[in-house]
Amino acid sequence: MAGKIGIAIHGGAGTILKSLMTPEKEAAYTKALKEALMAGWNQLNNNKSSIDAVTEAVEMLENISLFNSGKGSVFTNDGDNKMDASIMNGKDLRAGCVSSVSNVKNPVILAKKIMEESEFVYLNGKGAEAFAKKMDLKFENDEYFFDEFRHSQYLEALDLDRVQLDHSVEPNRINSHIGTVGAVALDSEGNLAAATSTGGMTNMKFGRIGDSPLIGSGTYANNKTCAVSCTGHGEYFIRAVAAYDVSALMEYQHLSLEKASEIVVYKKLKDMNGEGGLIAIDKNCNISMPFNSEGMYRACIRSDTQALINIYRE
Ligand code: ASP
Repeated sequence: MAGKIGIAIHGGAGTILKSLMTPEKEAAYTKALKEALMAGWNQLNNNKSSIDAVTEAVEMLENISLFNSGKGSVFTNDGDNKMDASIMNGKDLRAGCVSSVSNVKNPVILAKKIMEESEFVYLNGKGAEAFAKKMDLKFENDEYFFDEFRHSQYLEALDLDRVQLDHSVEPNRINSHIGTVGAVALDSEGNLAAATSTGGMTNMKFGRIGDSPLIGSGTYANNKTCAVSCTGHGEYFIRAVAAYDVSALMEYQHLSLEKASEIVVYKKLKDMNGEGGLIAIDKNCNISMPFNSEGMYRACIRSDTQALINIYRE
């Protein structure tokens, strides 16, 4: 008998205040979240795997410049885009991770190919780009990735010599571009999967890599427990091993998904001053989406509930 299915997605957490949002921008974000959610949902409804569902949803978000992943990624100190992504299959704990790639249209597809077609788990930089070419993945030129708003953020950060989270906007600046993206899903076979994709942090240098491509920190999935995708200040999520910690609290302390994810976000990360949030789904199709920032672009749908799309703190 087919089991319950569900999917949750995020488009980044940060200083997202209703007072800084225009109705047009709010509508654009809501539409983008809904389309990506439904694309992933359709995969699940057509009996596709949770891996297919999270890939589809993240790919759609990567193709929209509203979010900091794929098209619209933030700029590094060198003035280019360096993208990271990861994916994990809860069924067999296989994973694929990629960091510091440029011009690859969909880093999440590259991460999936690394998982499925290579003998490795994690590829970086030029080598990862060479593998993407070997796999015949789509590349785009620099203009495709260029976003005027993100470029102005970069020039400002360069001027102030500051490495900044895409989320860290001054109150007087419209917070129109937030967003590492991610998805978690449970399919009808009871298999969990998670995927995350990002452009990292504005003005990052020295080859800095955040939590998003790291299994255990930004992404984790295990059929025994849950699937998790994180967003926020990567340095803290790495040190907290945030995504795996949710799973470990469930596995070893037998906590519920809600309790485990809230401990990680509201207690562990908060105590370290780690700003951000996560989305998580467990093997029973419970969904949890806690964040300790002002807001988090998020959406979810399950067999027994309507689609829920939210941006701000309730
Ligand atoms: N976690 C990402 C990083 O640190 C950024 C984000 O989630 O927006 O690279």
